[in-house]
Amino acid sequence: MKICRFNHDRIGIVEGDFILDVSSALAELPKASWPFPAGDLLISRLADLLPLLAQKKEDAAAFPISEVRLESPVANPTKLINAPINYRAHIEETKADQQISHGRDMTKSIWHWGLFLKANSALSGAGNPIRLRYPGRRTDHEIELAVIIGTECEGVARKDALNYVAGYTIGLDITIRGPELQSFRKSADGFAVLGPWMVTADEINDPGQLDLELKVNGELRQKANTRSLVYDVPRLIEYASSMYTLYPGDVIFTGTPEGVGPITPGDHIEAQISRIGTMKASVHPEILPLPQHDPVLDEAKAQKV
Ligand code: MN
Repeated sequence: MKICRFNHDRIGIVEGDFILDVSSALAELPKASWPFPAGDLLISRLADLLPLLAQKKEDAAAFPISEVRLESPVANPTKLINAPINYRAHIEETKADQQISHGRDMTKSIWHWGLFLKANSALSGAGNPIRLRYPGRRTDHEIELAVIIGTECEGVARKDALNYVAGYTIGLDITIRGPELQSFRKSADGFAVLGPWMVTADEINDPGQLDLELKVNGELRQKANTRSLVYDVPRLIEYASSMYTLYPGDVIFTGTPEGVGPITPGDHIEAQISRIGTMKASVHPEILPLPQHDPVLDEAKAQKV
């Protein structure tokens, strides 16, 4: 089943070119009180709700996909976990391009670098244009298969890992290139785009056989298959859950293949993963102005600390 969030927290089932509004099923979610349980309430109950969603769609209102505003299919993850340098050809392009690596030693593996987190507030959907920061700095697209965790887990063995997956979606890990930490330059509002919807795990038996493709203004930039992942999805879940408890709705961005490149205001991005679909996203026509810095003064102040 393809499930989307749209038009201010409505829930839909995607069929063909239409979204069937099954939002009334949300009334079945338990009423939570403070402190709220960790994780996404809808994702945590999704397995139980699927029969009801299927029933509700029979007499649901239908909206053409092109006429709705798509939001992130996950509303409340506790964290957005990211795999760095997880495709060999991307490691090679990173070594070759100083603008990407910025002096970091890219001969090391994901085992050396570990995983990193993007801020939850960076989460966004296809209908929300990506607003760039830092005029003059390169900001790149990174298409990634994104895994949505369905069940709370920790210390998961590789062989059991896929049992904890609720579904899959397309992720854009928008990235300012530069010397700052990943948690800063990849975490601006809107820099973690998920969509256009989630596909439940039963529709993707093997997440290690999916084609990915990303175009900017119709020009092909990235094209790969998830079989080229260095750490595949089960291994990433094992690795992540050895460090963090994973909660329903947590997202693992599995890493981007080769072909990363800059996006500029007004660009149109088309990101496609087989068995999921195509996400159309756009880059906001304006760059967000930043406060003025005085590099000399700032450097002097920093040295006094
Ligand atoms: Mn990435």
